[in-house]
Amino acid sequence: MTPQILIIEDESSLADNAAIALRRDGLVSQHAASLAAATKLLDSDSFALILLDLGLPDGNGLDFLRQFRLKSGTPVIILTARNDELDRVLGLELGADDYVCKPFSPRELVARVKAVLRRCPATATAPAANQVLQIDSERHQATFAGQPLALTAAEFRLLACLAGAPGRIFSRSQLLLKAWGDAGAAEERTVDAHVKSLRAKLRELSPKEFLVTRRGFGYCWDPSA
Ligand code: CA
Repeated sequence: MTPQILIIEDESSLADNAAIALRRDGLVSQHAASLAAATKLLDSDSFALILLDLGLPDGNGLDFLRQFRLKSGTPVIILTARNDELDRVLGLELGADDYVCKPFSPRELVARVKAVLRRCPATATAPAANQVLQIDSERHQATFAGQPLALTAAEFRLLACLAGAPGRIFSRSQLLLKAWGDAGAAEERTVDAHVKSLRAKLRELSPKEFLVTRRGFGYCWDPSA
């Protein structure tokens, strides 16, 4: 089945350009010009990937992303203004898989979409029901097995990233990009160190191992633990 892309963008010319570029590469898309319209489409259809504009008529795409990540691991690429680094960093922290700067070249957009789809092919529609873990991204607080977790900022971002897409394996470099916002800012060993400390805190509250190592690939939040 052809993967379907959801384009959430209120500028119709940009949405059209994206749709045309995707179609040229054999990718089917649907378009929503508001968050309300997007929510409706997400309820009725399944999508392999979402292209998300941030400034939308009925709200901010980052707020949408924060809520969306609590229940879905579907890959998201945010569409940001070229000079807005803060939006990009925030978006990645909130669980976006990549970003494309506007105005984008159709070819770059398609390349990014395909790269993300390659990275996370099967878990796109996996529901992220995580009763054992609750994450409040606004307050940067997490509750695990009914108890509040005392986490450092880096541990929190790691946990939010992993648990935001249950079952999905993240490589160290992906985690660096998401939790630190820049793959060049820290070393991959840093990820291991933070995973270790995060795991120790989780183990204090539950003997089940949700944060698992996939040898040779990376880390994953396994909801079936
Ligand atoms: Ca916009």
